[in-house]
Amino acid sequence: MVDARGVQKHFGALQVLKGISLQVKPKEVMCLIGPSGSGKSTFLRCINHLEKVTAGRLYVDGELVGYEERGNKLHELHPKRAAAQRRDIGMVFQRFNLFPHMTALENIIEAPMQVKRQKKSEALARGRELLAQVGLAEKATAYPAQLSGGQQQRVAIARALAMEPKLMLFDEPTSALDPELVGEVLDVMRKLADNGMTMIVVTHEMGFAREVGDHLVFMDGGVVVEAGPPREVLSNPQHERTKSFLSKVL
Ligand code: ATP
Ligand code: MG
Repeated sequence: MVDARGVQKHFGALQVLKGISLQVKPKEVMCLIGPSGSGKSTFLRCINHLEKVTAGRLYVDGELVGYEERGNKLHELHPKRAAAQRRDIGMVFQRFNLFPHMTALENIIEAPMQVKRQKKSEALARGRELLAQVGLAEKATAYPAQLSGGQQQRVAIARALAMEPKLMLFDEPTSALDPELVGEVLDVMRKLADNGMTMIVVTHEMGFAREVGDHLVFMDGGVVVEAGPPREVLSNPQHERTKSFLSKVL
């Protein structure tokens, strides 16, 4: 589903990703960890084509992200086609960026109606299903300000799912939450994974990584330092940098 081959990203003279290669198969969950500034968010943003890869190749579901190949040369995709690629990928950020002037249900139906041209009745029915799926059936008419951080984040997940994504990206979805609210969000994510969603999750929740992840990738300084089954990486890290990082977060 995701195939990164030597992905590099430069911001001017600053090279943030120095050749990331990794694969995520359909229905797999990859957890991504690493110190601040190591390039985790940038990598997710490249997958979603919010940032342009500057070298290497990135495929999602067999399609080159952001470019097309013509006669051995890469050409930037037409913005409309780039937007179409992005539409198939759901993203949830650390800060719940719900539209504050819309109810939970309105937040969820906005994109399916505007972007996918779904009929309102259809979008509403699916939106209610999704709210139930994240345990918030009773909160359809609540505004974000009336919801806890954990509830807002669950609405954000439902909103991403309303576009029927084939891949979900999570960028530290629980790190802005009070500790007692983390579990309810992780539970929703765990259920998603159990139902076969392909996911890449940047997180420092090692319990989640161990139990839900198929792969654990440790990044530092724009490279993949170590990757493997979560239990192995967590209990028997091979590299000094991984050991030192884990000793701080475990
Ligand atoms: P954190 O754990 O703090 O979220 P991260 O691993 O997600 O860190 P990134 O946000 O990907 O790290 O940032 C990696 C590096 O890229 C940082 O040095 C950051 O300052 C730099 N960077 C990110 N976005 C830009 C940008 N738009 N322009 C210039 N530099 C950027
Ligand atoms: Mg980040």
